[in-house]
Parts: sequence; C-alpha cells; structure tokens
Amino acid sequence: MQLASIGSGSKGNGTLLRTEGACVLIDCGFSLKETERRLAGRGLQGSDIDAILVTHEHGDHIGGVGALSRRYSIPVYMSHGTRVSGRCEDVYKRICFDAGDSFRIHDVEVKSVLVPHDARQPCQYVLESQGVRVGILTDLGTITPHVADAYRECHHLVLEFNHDLDLLRSGPYPKSLKQRVGGDLGHLNNRQAAALLREINHSGLISVLIAHMSEQNNTQACIEAALNEDLGQAFNKHYYMSQDEGYDWVKLSEMFGSEPSQLAADV
Ligand SMILES: [Zn+2]
Ligand SMILES: [Zn+2]
Repeated sequence: MQLASIGSGSKGNGTLLRTEGACVLIDCGFSLKETERRLAGRGLQGSDIDAILVTHEHGDHIGGVGALSRRYSIPVYMSHGTRVSGRCEDVYKRICFDAGDSFRIHDVEVKSVLVPHDARQPCQYVLESQGVRVGILTDLGTITPHVADAYRECHHLVLEFNHDLDLLRSGPYPKSLKQRVGGDLGHLNNRQAAALLREINHSGLISVLIAHMSEQNNTQACIEAALNEDLGQAFNKHYYMSQDEGYDWVKLSEMFGSEPSQLAADV
C-alpha cells in the first residue's frame, strides 16, 4: 500500500491511496487542469483513479471533484449530508453512505467517521488493506471520544495540525474567522492534535503525516514545540505535507520499521 498527497491546506487538498487492487483519491480541491498536473507529478493520470472519497463540501475539498469525476468517469463516495449540501451535485456517479458506515472499494475497506466541523455531515476515513490501517483526519474542531476511538489502532496517520493558537489570536484574520477556525466546529490546533497523538500513540504507529497546516497561523517550529511538550523529544515519526508540493509516495507497511521510504512509482 502506498500513500501520497497532491497538496494539503486551505487552498486545496487531495490524498492518494494506492493498493494492489485500487487507487483512491480522498478529496480534490484543485481545478481539473491543476489536478492533472499534480497527479502527473505522482506518476498518475485521471484514468488511474478508481474512486473519489469526499470528506465534506468545503471548496478546498470538493472544488475539483465534479470536473475530475465527469472527465474520467470516476464514482464519488459521500455522506448523505454532504449530498444534501447541494455543493457536490455535478459528479459522474454518486454513492452515498451514512456517517459511521463501512464499505469496500476493491481491496480497500473504508470506514467513515463523523467529525465535528461546520459542514452538513463531515466524515473522515480509516482505510485498511492487507492488514495495514491508515487514518485520514483533518477539518475538525475538537477531538471527541468517538474520534479518538476510531483512530486508536492506525499504523499510519494523516493528521491535521492547522494552527498555533497564539499565532491565530495575534494574526491577521478578522475576529469572526478567528472564532470559526479556533471553534469546536473549526480546525485542530497544534496542542489538540498533539494531545490526540499522545492518547493514541502506540508501538504499531509507524508514521504521522502532518496535514492542513495554515500558512498564516502556523510554523513547523510551533508544531515541533507542541509535539515535544506532549510526546517528548524522542517522538520522530512525523513528516510534513505542504500546500504546494503535497507529499511524494510513501510505502506503507506495518513491517517497514520506524521510517517510511520514498518510492518512485511502482506499487
Ligand atoms: Zn479543509
Ligand atoms: Zn472544512
């Protein structure tokens, strides 16, 4: 199993998971042309994608879903609430589920997890194939016991470290946006994300890919400080996804050891 990102942040998101039997794109917040360019950077064409999983109807997650889906006849999975939002109508084929449902896409078992965020029925995902479990968790304002339980046994995590609370408070955003981002239905700050990691860290957790980092209200130094405080200096399982570059293919395997390796193209 391999994982890559074509970009992560408020200007657009897209996470790729590739197994022997499937290639799944989680969210697509880029225009068709930009998505094709970014997929090419990962050695893929649109026709290689078997399914698109949508997390929620915000533009940085669905902006490119309709066009990509229609252009390459890709089915799109979304919650009933996301459908009701009316913002993800123009897709090739829609497959709707209820929050908490599990379903299969070829050899990938997908579990949807309802999260607190200001959308109609926002769901994040835990994906499993051949005994390797990957959690994708961004765009949530608070960690509930339900969320912590769902992500407790992952081997790999894509986890939002959106903002540093002090930088958000003193930063340039208008007051209403600060309240939205920092609120219980907004985004995870570094301390919340680090606290979740401390709670669910276990010997089987191999890597944490840091995602949806704010360009205005966060820095890698702030994230390192939060991780040091909650997990100690010895925690070195984390890697940074970026808005412009995303992250190149990482081979995921619970047998792999403590560091994921970058691969060029093959499955
Ligand atoms: Zn987002
Ligand atoms: Zn969102």
